[in-house]
Amino acid sequence: MALESEKLILIIEDEADLSKLLEFHLQHHGYETLVARDGMAGLNEAVQRTPDLIILDLMLPKIHGLEVCRLLRNSPAIRQVPILILSALHTTATKIRGLDMGADDYMTKPFEFAELLSRVNALLRRRGSESSVQWN
Ligand code: CA
Repeated sequence: MALESEKLILIIEDEADLSKLLEFHLQHHGYETLVARDGMAGLNEAVQRTPDLIILDLMLPKIHGLEVCRLLRNSPAIRQVPILILSALHTTATKIRGLDMGADDYMTKPFEFAELLSRVNALLRRRGSESSVQWN
């Protein structure tokens, strides 16, 4: 599936073990991956590479994930990129804030990769159907 293998997912996550695990599984399912270890690096990579989807941790060095989310949504080039927040913060208030800041989905840690993959695929499908009339 050439189309799927071209999709780039930016993982903004400071926990090395978790980002490696995410990369391993996402690459296994045909995605290209890129990791940023703090909020500032994440913003830079997002602007430079324009990924197809962003997986965003909240408790990040330098810039908090909620602020990263807000800044991404204010950037014209990446406003349309789906953002999936993946955080240990599990209160309803935090989830609402994340979605209010422009995130498309919110998952709490610990998580099962199968569910994350399913949500990633759904977000990319939704985005694909908005930007194209082709059914692929
Ligand atoms: Ca973190």
